[in-house]
Amino acid sequence: MNTPSHKALVPFVSVKNMMQLVHRVGIEKMLTGLADAIEQDFLRWPLFDKTPRVASHSEVGVIELMPTSDGETYGFKYVNGHPKNTHEGLQTVTAFGLLADVYTGYPLLLSEMTLLTALRTAATSAMAARHLAPKGAHTMAMIGNGAQSEFQCIAFAAVCGIKSVNLYDIDRAASEKAARNLAGFGITTVICDTPERAIQGAQIITTCTADKQNATILTENMIGEGVHINAIGGDCPGKTELSARILERATTFVEYPPQTRIEGELQQMSDDYPVTELWQVITGEKVGRKDAHQITLFDSVGFAIEDFSALRFVRDHVNGTDLVEMLDLLADPDDPRDLFGMFLRASPDTTTLVV
Ligand code: NAD
Repeated sequence: MNTPSHKALVPFVSVKNMMQLVHRVGIEKMLTGLADAIEQDFLRWPLFDKTPRVASHSEVGVIELMPTSDGETYGFKYVNGHPKNTHEGLQTVTAFGLLADVYTGYPLLLSEMTLLTALRTAATSAMAARHLAPKGAHTMAMIGNGAQSEFQCIAFAAVCGIKSVNLYDIDRAASEKAARNLAGFGITTVICDTPERAIQGAQIITTCTADKQNATILTENMIGEGVHINAIGGDCPGKTELSARILERATTFVEYPPQTRIEGELQQMSDDYPVTELWQVITGEKVGRKDAHQITLFDSVGFAIEDFSALRFVRDHVNGTDLVEMLDLLADPDDPRDLFGMFLRASPDTTTLVV
């Protein structure tokens, strides 16, 4: 028999079904749930395998693998970053990922992660801001209004209580798209002509631009005391968004220092530039925001544990529902040592086998 046994079928979440999941759960609830799931895993940070992601760079972009394990479950994400893609009608970032059982090594879930990456990045940003942003923050500047931007805005509204977002992008059409998409989510949007206007009155500044260069989206004189900066776009060697002078004034919080020093705004600083690991703020080992005057910076690059948390969240919500398709991904012979026999029996005509 060539029919695969059920134990070897791998649940798969397609883009269509991921969209359905988000609609069923509700995007605000999903972002809040993801923020909580990521926070829970940051609380048990020391037990995870950790490594800077494995990156394959080209002149136009990067392809990365992001693995981790908590000892029971293993996960990885495949993700790319190609800023030039949007000009060719393609996305800057696409991704898919997998969870596996550490005991058997068998995959437990394969999932689209382009949409899930936008959700988990926004949830991580908002979770970090919950610990770092000034109390009572109500307005966010959103600089860079591409694929990630609406997710960021909704996460900050749902998790941190942001009421109003000042949108700025070098391409006004991107800001208009974001404002259109955000209508109906209870967030006031203001399209701004300059980044200076966007940061006026904002207690939180999110930078989420894509350009493969050391850009200066925010200069030092634009940053007043007391703000929280959520820097998302600088996430690859040679790709940063902030003036180094801002880092000199700010207290900087990171996911995993060995990766952020390679990929984040930290590239611009010496190896002894002090950083605080976000997980230690969450466990209470380190202090987050100290006072209302401090500039806090979350130098986000995206870390494997966030994807692991997001995949587990998805698995818990789709198992046993119609949102998974079962994939024949693993060979599963009745006799585990008779892989070749399984292959032979699959021949349409066993008498005319040609090698
Ligand atoms: P995108 O290409 O869809 O959008 C980027 C936007 O930035 C575009 O609208 C572009 O016009 C705008 N932009 C470029 N230069 C600008 C400037 N100087 N001022 C204002 N706007 C400018 O990209 P995306 O999918 O939204 O991703 C944005 C960035 O976030 C990328 O660099 C990506 O690699 C990064 N990212 C980081 C994480 C993380 O975890 N930190 C996760 C996902 C994506």
